[in-house]
Amino acid sequence: MISSFDTILRNANVIDGSGQPAYTADIGLLKDRIAAIGNLDDATATQQDINLEGLSVVPGFIDVHTHDDRALLSNPDMLPKLTQGVTTVVTGNCGISLAPLSPNIAIVPPLDLVATEEWLRFPHFADYLDALDAAAPAVNVVALVGHTSLRAQTMTDLSLPASQQEISQMQQLLDEALQSGAWGMSTGTFYPPAAAAPTEEIIEVGQPLGRHKGLYATHMRNEADRVMESLEETFVIGKELGINVVISHHKLAGVRYHGMSGKTLQRIKDAMAEQPVCLDCYPYNASSTMLHPDFIERASSVMVAWSTPHPKYAGRMLADIAAELGCDQREAANLLMPAGAIYFLMDENDVQAILAFDETMIGSDGLPHDNHPHPRLWGLFLECWDTMRAM
Ligand SMILES: [Zn+2]
Repeated sequence: MISSFDTILRNANVIDGSGQPAYTADIGLLKDRIAAIGNLDDATATQQDINLEGLSVVPGFIDVHTHDDRALLSNPDMLPKLTQGVTTVVTGNCGISLAPLSPNIAIVPPLDLVATEEWLRFPHFADYLDALDAAAPAVNVVALVGHTSLRAQTMTDLSLPASQQEISQMQQLLDEALQSGAWGMSTGTFYPPAAAAPTEEIIEVGQPLGRHKGLYATHMRNEADRVMESLEETFVIGKELGINVVISHHKLAGVRYHGMSGKTLQRIKDAMAEQPVCLDCYPYNASSTMLHPDFIERASSVMVAWSTPHPKYAGRMLADIAAELGCDQREAANLLMPAGAIYFLMDENDVQAILAFDETMIGSDGLPHDNHPHPRLWGLFLECWDTMRAM
């Protein structure tokens, strides 16, 4: 039994992450590591002895769905995450990663949510991982390769399915990325630069995932009228490649599809019995991504988060901007692009049902470079923590 620690945290409410109920204990630290958990009444601390009565100690949270690729390098203190207790982030989601992207590629939205011209520095994934090592961010990183980034890096026309030659190039870049330390690939076929990619393209490009036991995360092609078909596509890709799939930020987008979570969750549960499937969500009824005229109709209202040509409209409702400009919302969106927006399009009951589903993980989907970011960036884990404490 150790009788002396560098630091002792006493009377903490310990939630150890194993699923067992919380319990009261003391925690002894030696050289930044937990050396003992239990009754340390007889032990002494050489540096700090802190009474945590009334407070909880938990393992660091994992934000399983982020767009922190650039923030990790530009703001390695990672305050939006660290202040919420997040110690690990999964990057490169929704098909968009900061690597592999060469200096000469066109930054088509939604790539602009993470990439800027100044940050087109990583033609190979290993370059990005080296930069991460050098920046030494305050959180751990699980980096995914974005299929849209692979397309932007290798294709001349993103409105088409990839040619055989382009597929081979993407495979090679993905293989290289997985060898250098990427954990898997993400897709965002919902978005214009990847919408033309058929299921077969994703399976072909994803071949190296099977060899490297990489995972596949997807912002599905459709979260509205064709959500069930999109789930099937996701399961087929996972089965064909023999890998784990993650359904990103599961939601039902648009009033007409509200109430469908019972059906989607049942289908996901059935699929889980046959293959490894995971899902994540964020506890808000508004989403946030690039502003696009085609995305407006699904939402009851839209708030502008940023606009490159018209920065003054950040933080304002698109309907008000349109009224002021004397046009409709589609025209206003066209004027403001490239831009980011917050879309109020989910039903609270669906959000609650998806959150309450046993297998659902928590991912913020926060956008760290927005001027007026969706509150999920800074607030998600605090929100969940409040709910947990109230239970
Ligand atoms: Zn997404």
